[in-house]
Amino acid sequence: MDNLVVINHPLVAHKLSLMRDKTTPSAQFRTLLREISLLLGYELLRDLPTERRDIETPVGPMRAPFLAGKKLVLVPILRAGNGLLDGLLDLVPSARVGHVGLYRDPDTLQAVEYYCKVPDELGERLTVVVDPMLATGNSAVAAISRLKDRGARNMRLICLLAAPEGIAAVAGAHPDVRVFTAAVDERLNDHGYIVPGLGDAGDRMYGTK
Ligand code: URA
Repeated sequence: MDNLVVINHPLVAHKLSLMRDKTTPSAQFRTLLREISLLLGYELLRDLPTERRDIETPVGPMRAPFLAGKKLVLVPILRAGNGLLDGLLDLVPSARVGHVGLYRDPDTLQAVEYYCKVPDELGERLTVVVDPMLATGNSAVAAISRLKDRGARNMRLICLLAAPEGIAAVAGAHPDVRVFTAAVDERLNDHGYIVPGLGDAGDRMYGTK
């Protein structure tokens, strides 16, 4: 699929396998999620624009590359998106952060919004939607639509795991948005969970059930 980037790396695969294991406790799950977000973020932001500025090193002058343009925006979908956020902020501490609160109606699996707060001037910033699990795609599609309504034009989605159904839903509704993921699993089950997946990412992170 044109809109999909699968980040193949032995470190990513290893950490993801540890996260899938149902015996992995929440504390370790959160640590792994933060570590993996650094590796995924590195690829996600590989083509950020840079500009040269004059600096002096201890040895002499040089025109050195720095990140250019308006600060990018990270938008975690609450609550599981927060698990990927901290690592991405470690990579880009100056990023702005918006939040979109969506929950999945358990019967319809449709996304229901309960919160939205995002920075100004989205139209001039790379806007990255952050959500570990791209399952039906309903939440991602709704969040992207909402952010486009607020002016976002240059958008990406970063997740840990994706189902083919979710990738297709994002591609259908928002073909301009590239999806970055560590892996694509087989399918969804009847409850909208990714199979084999890793379970409910929010529950795994926070020890809720
Ligand atoms: N959300 C999750 O946390 N896990 C899934 O498998 C699907 C959606």
